[in-house]
Amino acid sequence: MKFRSANRSGIVIRRRVMPSGDIIVTLLTPQGKLKAIARGGVRGPLASRLNLFHHVGVQVYQTPNNDLATVKQAVLEGALPSLAEPERHAFAHLMAEFADALFQEGEFSETAFELFAAALRGVAHQPDPEWVALVMSYKLLGLAGIVPQTARCARCGAPDPEYPDPLGGQMLCAACASLPAYPPTSLDFLRGVVRRTVRASMDAPVPLSERPALWRALERFVTVQVGGVHSWRQLVPSEPGAADPALGTGLQAIPPI
Ligand SMILES: [Zn+2]
Repeated sequence: MKFRSANRSGIVIRRRVMPSGDIIVTLLTPQGKLKAIARGGVRGPLASRLNLFHHVGVQVYQTPNNDLATVKQAVLEGALPSLAEPERHAFAHLMAEFADALFQEGEFSETAFELFAAALRGVAHQPDPEWVALVMSYKLLGLAGIVPQTARCARCGAPDPEYPDPLGGQMLCAACASLPAYPPTSLDFLRGVVRRTVRASMDAPVPLSERPALWRALERFVTVQVGGVHSWRQLVPSEPGAADPALGTGLQAIPPI
């Protein structure tokens, strides 16, 4: 029987402890996503190293008949202790699930890894982790090549739409819209975030009251465009902002087409 052994370095974006005591982890690495099992890991030193958001170096081996690679060793290369704070943890968890939904196993992307690592550092250290998560979610979408249309109405194609698209998370023109237009700051963010630098977007945060509508648009867009985002969706902030009570009822607010 042949064994293939490899050394990888990556960030733990998902961790599941099985009743058997095995730990199944998904790492985001510069070589793509890697899913592996640490057999009996929960009883050994691997348990604390393979924690969520840890940057670890692992030695894995794969047998030809086995789907999952096995973790032989794991070395902690970096950790962000402040991600344990509840608010930061929520957004780090959201980013990890988002990356998991967005990137496929074996898909090589050093840039995706770097961007995700920067997102986690931002969520860990910046005073406004929610804004980091919003900006970086759109940047990751752009990297994955799944970009919301902002130049034309998603329904009729009219130029320069300014209204929310409650069904698809894109944008609608005045004639197709049923909701109030986006405020100028949100409009500027949605039109510019994908091509702008992270720094530029971080320096121009959208007011808190406008964010629920942006999260809702992101949630709708990703749900329509990317498959298997159920666990991610549950993490998206859903509290309706005082600024647009009309959307508070979620799907029920969507008018018939
Ligand atoms: Zn239209």
